[in-house]
Amino acid sequence: MRGGELERQGAASTWSGWVDAVSEELRALLHAVADRVADYRSGLGDRPVRAEQSGAALLAAFDLPLPDGPLAPAQVIAELAAAAEPGLVHSAGPRFFGFVVGGTVPAALAADWLTSGWDQNAVLAAASPAAAAVEEVVRRWLLDLLLLPAHCSLGLVTGGQLANLTCLAAARHAVLDRVGWDVERDGLVGAPALRVCVGADRHASILRALRLLGIGTAAIATVPTDGQGRIRPAELAAVLAGMTGPVIVCAQAGEVNSGAVDPLGEIADLTHAVGGWLHLDGAFGLWAAASPSYRGLLAGHERADSWATDAHKWLNVPFDCGFALTAHPAAHRAAMSTTADYLPAGTDSGRDAVDWNPEMSRRARGFAVWAALRSLGRAGVADLVDRCCTWARLLAAELAALPGVEVCAEVTLNQVLLRFPVAGDPAASDARTRAVIDAVQRDGTCWLGGTTWRGRVTARVSIVNAETGRADIERSVAAIGRCAAQSHHPVCMPMHTDAY
Ligand SMILES: *Cc1c(COP(=O)(O)O)cnc(C)c1O
Repeated sequence: MRGGELERQGAASTWSGWVDAVSEELRALLHAVADRVADYRSGLGDRPVRAEQSGAALLAAFDLPLPDGPLAPAQVIAELAAAAEPGLVHSAGPRFFGFVVGGTVPAALAADWLTSGWDQNAVLAAASPAAAAVEEVVRRWLLDLLLLPAHCSLGLVTGGQLANLTCLAAARHAVLDRVGWDVERDGLVGAPALRVCVGADRHASILRALRLLGIGTAAIATVPTDGQGRIRPAELAAVLAGMTGPVIVCAQAGEVNSGAVDPLGEIADLTHAVGGWLHLDGAFGLWAAASPSYRGLLAGHERADSWATDAHKWLNVPFDCGFALTAHPAAHRAAMSTTADYLPAGTDSGRDAVDWNPEMSRRARGFAVWAALRSLGRAGVADLVDRCCTWARLLAAELAALPGVEVCAEVTLNQVLLRFPVAGDPAASDARTRAVIDAVQRDGTCWLGGTTWRGRVTARVSIVNAETGRADIERSVAAIGRCAAQSHHPVCMPMHTDAY
């Protein structure tokens, strides 16, 4: 296009004139996109919270011919928005309660745009001193806010999955190093057997991390949990008593369904008594440490050896961003660090991300985190956590008061589990719960997902958006209540399940 445009502009064009034309075009494009996004965000609270299209219709919308030559950026962006918008779930809005999807605080969204505009490579301080410096400050602020020891190391990764992987790589290094085995050099073939204790309600990403690390799921000893999904310390003690050799224990703050937090202090005692490494998956739940009202639930969390958490969940930073934190910087670095002749290390910024992350080239995620923390402040983060928990409790209480609705786990944080039972008939209860989930999703007032909890079909609500307010909870309770009432009469069930 550029050559063609030059020709169209005629012989009078100069190189600098062309550059000016490009920069004006870019300015216009960015302004147009800013308006488009602002329109989208301001209308979010009024839209049905569901995608209008999926699957084949969207594939067809995107599957325009791959052009032989360039197209104007403005046209491309208009086409992209037209194709994508019918397939957006509007999960950034205040009544999306699916999975654990945070919203975006304005400063973090704007900082994320700057990050794209600056297009820094955060691999090394030499490639972006600013990206390295902001990550170092983010490390200090996070440790302060989450009440973790000030010497802890940080890797800014894509999310909880990579945070678990990075922390468990550090754990694998440390527990094998303690028995004289260099896993980075010698691998796991012939290594002393490594065992990993995980609660029965562990997150799936823990299992994948163990697979990717070559530890394998057969190394897992599963520890029974209680009715809320918490590790039973006596069961952990029994499992550990039967083990010899290197041990990693994975505990959890914020079970992905119930939000339950393991008894962390007792688990830390038991793990350290056998010389093990305690890893804490706190993808969203670790943020309770930032709230004076909720941090008591996490008592002892600071005694873990590593922590995985997300910024794109409860901190409301745009996707994707998570944190791998460890109390053992040397182990973290030994597991992750790499170098090459063309990568200059050790500049005065004091931090090369390549030492702490599994990636090399990567996005400068620190800017958006810095902006979120600076704009919310200590009180703002605490308030964000508190409000989400308050809304979860309110939603649970109001729904529990309706006939044919059951709240089926304690609401300790921001998660609510619901069933829509048919008395004395578990199979019909499952079918009815499935039907209500489906009806709520079609209704579009709010969005909740489904899961299996204690063997039964269960609806799952997760509140992690700073924009969610009391009115959103009231509207959502009304909608869920309506959908439940419509599928209330057991006699109607076969019809309803057929219809869905
Ligand atoms: C969401 C979640 C993860 C995975 O985090 P991602 O950011 O999706 O990679 C891990 N553990 C728990 C408990 C979670 O809630």
